[in-house]
Amino acid sequence: MKQLVAFDLDGTLAESKQPLPDWMAQAVADLLEVAHVAVISGGDWPQFDKQVASRLPPRADLARLWLMPTTGTKLYTHRGGIWSPVYAELFDEAQKQAIFSAFDASLEATGFVPERTWGERIEDRGSQITFSALGQQAPIHAKEIWDPDFAKRKIIQADLRTRLPGLSINMGGATSIDITREGVDKAYGLKKLRDASGISLGAMMFIGDAIFPGGNDYPAKELGLDTIRVRDPRETLAVMETIVACQKS
Ligand SMILES: [Mg+2]
Repeated sequence: MKQLVAFDLDGTLAESKQPLPDWMAQAVADLLEVAHVAVISGGDWPQFDKQVASRLPPRADLARLWLMPTTGTKLYTHRGGIWSPVYAELFDEAQKQAIFSAFDASLEATGFVPERTWGERIEDRGSQITFSALGQQAPIHAKEIWDPDFAKRKIIQADLRTRLPGLSINMGGATSIDITREGVDKAYGLKKLRDASGISLGAMMFIGDAIFPGGNDYPAKELGLDTIRVRDPRETLAVMETIVACQKS
C-alpha cells in the first residue's frame, strides 16, 4: 500500500508546458481521495500554478497535494485556503553577489570580456542563476559566432569552478552558463519531500515519461522508488485508475 504517488509534469500529467486537461484534473482529484499526490518538475511556481493548481476541481483534497517547482528546491502546500511555499532554497543576497563577482573576475582573468553586450547578462530564477555572456537580448548572429565550439565557455567554466566551489556550473544555450547548487535532481527533490511529509521513500511511488538512463526522471528509480514509466498523459491516466481501484480494495 503506497501512501504517496509522485508524478513528473511535462509529458506525464500534461503535454509540455500545457495545462492539465479536464480529464486529468478529475483523475488527480480521484487519486487524492486514496493517497497523497506530489508533482515535481523543473519549472518555477507560476508554471505550476498555470498547469496544475488552477486546474483542479473544487472537490480535490488539496491538503494532500505537494507541489515541487524547480526540481524540488521549492515546495508549495495549500493551507488556510492559499498556496504558499513551505521552503524555497534560494541563493541569498551574499551568494548572488559572490556569483556575480565571480563572473566578472572570471571574464577578466580569461580575457573573454565581450566587446559589446545586449541587455541584462544575469537572469535570477531564485534557485538558478543563468549568465548570458552577450546579454539576454543579443542578436542570434552575434551569439552564433561568439562561442560555437564551447571553447570559451569551457575555459570560463573551469575558472568559475575554482571561484565557486560547491556549486554546479554547466553550459546552457548558445552563450549561457547555468549555476545551481550541486546535486539538484529529482532524487534530491524526493528526499526533501520525504523529510517535509514524513512519508518514507518505501511508501512512495513515482510515475514519469523519462525513466531511463539520462532521462530527468531516472534519479527517482536510482533512489530506489517503485517507478512506472509512461508514454504520455493518456497512459498515465490508465495507471492512475488502476492505482485508485487497488487502493480502494
Ligand atoms: Mg517529463
